[in-house]
Amino acid sequence: MQVTEEKKQDGDLCKLAAFYHDVFRAQKQALLSNDDHAPSLHLEEALSRAQDGLAALSLDRLQSLGEAFPHLVDDLCQVMDRHGLLDEADLMALRAAQTDSDRRKAVVERWLSGDAGSEPSDFLVSAAVFPWLSSQAEMLLPHLNLALWQKGICPICGAEPSFAAIARQSRLRSLLCTRCGTEWPFKRIGCPYCGNDDQDLQAYYVLQDGRYRVCVCEKCQRHLKAIDLAFVNSEHVSLLVESLLSGWLDEAADAVQRSKA
Ligand SMILES: [Zn+2]
Ligand SMILES: [Zn+2]
Repeated sequence: MQVTEEKKQDGDLCKLAAFYHDVFRAQKQALLSNDDHAPSLHLEEALSRAQDGLAALSLDRLQSLGEAFPHLVDDLCQVMDRHGLLDEADLMALRAAQTDSDRRKAVVERWLSGDAGSEPSDFLVSAAVFPWLSSQAEMLLPHLNLALWQKGICPICGAEPSFAAIARQSRLRSLLCTRCGTEWPFKRIGCPYCGNDDQDLQAYYVLQDGRYRVCVCEKCQRHLKAIDLAFVNSEHVSLLVESLLSGWLDEAADAVQRSKA
């Protein structure tokens, strides 16, 4: 039974990896062809915000992204369809959203609020803006002193983290923003979501021989999954890929939460 379960999990991971491979290819192609309407970087504005202790990209700038990448949205739609992730109702909803600016606005608002669910449109908006956001982060990060940031939100786009890593040697923790791909240092103990520093109000669950762990905050009832790099053989770990492929950790954390309720 256990072998069957593991085989099923391996099969699911292979399908997921194949899907993300095609998504990354479409995103890379979009960056190379540059035929969407990517907004230009306002470096001065971004750095002045950072100096004031704010995320470098303003909400206004992020709100405008919903309309900026129609070609990539089309390409990603085809990728999802090819991988059997869209049914007739999804396709109808996506077509409706393409012709209805209020619907598109609502999807972007949901994405920005961090409440994006598992609707295809939620995935589309985040995957379509990712190449632009991550390239902005790449340009801005050399100008920022991340050691001074120490906040529970992304220094570039202001999103909450959805993954963490414990460094192999220093054992320091960093947080990852999956919205723009930025990684920033954060204190080892403490909940980035509510600021709870009380160790007695945080539970740690270590999984898969130490490779992964999930920290559950008893105060805000949220969890953060993490990878311990001391248990990873390769030097080249993509936290973004790890975070995308570890949805099962979120399910495990939710199951623990439910069992305690
Ligand atoms: Zn970010
Ligand atoms: Zn918390």
